[in-house]
Parts: sequence; C-alpha cells; structure tokens
Amino acid sequence: MKKDDCIFCKIVSGEIPSRKIYEDEDMIAIMDLNPTSKGHSLIIPKEHCRDLYEIDEEIAAKVMKTAKKLAQKMTDVLCCDGFNLLQNNGEVAGQTIFHFHLHLIPRYKDADNNLLKFTSVKLTDQEMDNLCQQLKNS
Ligand code: 5GP
Ligand code: ZN
Repeated sequence: MKKDDCIFCKIVSGEIPSRKIYEDEDMIAIMDLNPTSKGHSLIIPKEHCRDLYEIDEEIAAKVMKTAKKLAQKMTDVLCCDGFNLLQNNGEVAGQTIFHFHLHLIPRYKDADNNLLKFTSVKLTDQEMDNLCQQLKNS
C-alpha cells in the first residue's frame, strides 16, 4: 500500500517526476537524482516496503532478475567497465529513503575514483569461529 509521506511511493504514482528507464507490473527503475556515476539508477518495487527485512520474497527475486537484465543493458549502452549492486538497510547502513531500492551503479575505469571500499575489522580466529557457529546453527 502507498505510504503518504514516502518520496518513492510518490515517484511510483507519478506525483513526483522521475527519469524512468524501466517499468513492469511490480517495479520501476529510475535514474538517481544525485548519481554517484554516469547512469546510476535505482530499482524500486511499486508496493511500499521499508527494506530487505520487509520485502516480499517473490518481489525480491523479481528485483534481482531485473537487475541482471538492466545491468547487461546498461553495460552495453554505457560501455561501463564494471558494475556495483548496492542495497542499504537502516540508517547505520546508509539508507536515507525508507522504501526498498536497489542501486545499479555502472563503473568506469578512467573516469571513476569513487570506489566503494570496505575497511576490515580485526577479529581473532576464535571470534571468527564463534560467529560462524552462531550463524550456522541459528
Ligand atoms: P539510500 O541512501 O537510501 O540507499 O539511497 C537513496 C537514493 O535515492 C540516493 O542515491 C538519492 O540520490 C536518491 N534520491 C533521493 N531522492 C530522490 C528523488 O526525488 N528522485 C530520484 N530520482 N532519486 C532520489
Ligand atoms: Zn514508499
């Protein structure tokens, strides 16, 4: 159901304009208003859901299928050299719009110094083993 104060619900309904590159019965893909690279776009399910925890499994699977198709098409059209898929959940993870979306980010060898880099945390072997057991056995 549409959420009244949600920017992406308003984009889906057409109340807020957007540059749409794809649409089907379940989702749209639009160009990001503040692109991090040339062609940066977002896949947005039409039905409001906050994040990965809330999204319907079938819609999530459809979103990923569409991401594969669009990544190929965008790579062919934009001649990018690589591609990131990014999906933020929660403020601490960088989510700013609380309607699920998947970032499609084309990457370019020469015109791109904006690499998404992770710094590593130091964990002992024991801590790693404990985490592994915890995740495997829950
Ligand atoms: P998040 O940080 O929540 O993963 O990403 C939200 C994204 O939505 C950002 O990349 C931001 O630039 C984009 N965005 C925010 N408002 C609008 C808008 O009104 N239109 C479009 N096309 N993109 C938006
Ligand atoms: Zn919404």
